[in-house]
Amino acid sequence: MTHQERTSNIRKEINQVYKQLKRSYPIFNYQNTLGLIIFLLSICIIAVVSYCWYKGYINTWLMIVVNAFFMGVLHELEHDLIHWLYFKSNRVMHHFMLLSVWLLRPLTVNPWIRRTLHLHHHKYSGTLHDVEERSVTNGEKWTLKRLLTTADVVLGGLLRLGVMYKDMDKEVKAGRLKLDISNRLKKIMFLSIVPLTIVSHIILYLFFGNLLLDLLHKFFGTNLVFPAYLKDILVHLNFLIYTILLPNLVRQFSLHFITSNMHYFGDVEDGNVIEQTQVLTSWWTFPFQFFCFFFGWTHSIHHFVVNETFYVRHIGRKKAQNILKKYGVRFNDLGTFKRANRFHQTP
Ligand SMILES: [Zn+2]
Ligand SMILES: [Zn+2]
Repeated sequence: MTHQERTSNIRKEINQVYKQLKRSYPIFNYQNTLGLIIFLLSICIIAVVSYCWYKGYINTWLMIVVNAFFMGVLHELEHDLIHWLYFKSNRVMHHFMLLSVWLLRPLTVNPWIRRTLHLHHHKYSGTLHDVEERSVTNGEKWTLKRLLTTADVVLGGLLRLGVMYKDMDKEVKAGRLKLDISNRLKKIMFLSIVPLTIVSHIILYLFFGNLLLDLLHKFFGTNLVFPAYLKDILVHLNFLIYTILLPNLVRQFSLHFITSNMHYFGDVEDGNVIEQTQVLTSWWTFPFQFFCFFFGWTHSIHHFVVNETFYVRHIGRKKAQNILKKYGVRFNDLGTFKRANRFHQTP
């Protein structure tokens, strides 16, 4: 069987699973309502938990874990919104939801720009110009630098920009990428982090910089500390840093760690969806999966059947995974960590 035939069979069989699921549970047909309920419920839980932490009713770690989990749910909602799965004909509602999930996950790129980057990812997953995945370290050798820049789309992104631009020029020369698409991608990659993403990252750099200098001062008697006015700003931002930015840092590291290692890069056969991803369910990835709504378990399924909501994909995952396995999609290929995410062998 060719890879096209296998892909087409996978699509047919998974769509059948979803149809059957919706026949058994007709509630899944109320897609907009369900999306809105999940959206409101997640935001309410984040608000109540943050308030309880502020009042001292619950401890910091519990608040960060709960908030990070529900921000992971909001990330799935954003991804569904990017594919126009909620309120397609009610644009005000649609864009209101998109704006809200960005404000609550301000370390991520602008979702309206991400839509272009993400649809490009679906078309060209694993190529040198799959900028969405490359922006989160996909395809890089595993080093301390990759570990430190996994969550960071600003400094990490700037460090990667030169190589990515060069690779895109190469692709244009080789005729694999149109010049106007390349120019557009280059421009929007930078615009996508202006201004919310950059500002949120800078606040975190200051927070950790201050923490580090204070620790050095306390334990080694160093004299270098932040000036009083900067410390003052950080005190004012304390609630935002703890309830929004730190949970998002945990969530973003987890998501980027999982996604950048379950997508293949660099030697994926043109248009071969089977080679684009693997299913990642290894036990030790569980803590990371928890903070990105089990992305590694289900994202492969999404590469075959794009227009389905995350909760239906999650509920139907066992049957869908069996179908993927039957047609040769890889599972738990941990060698990818040694091969810098190449499908075949180390570059
Ligand atoms: Zn998608
Ligand atoms: Zn993908």
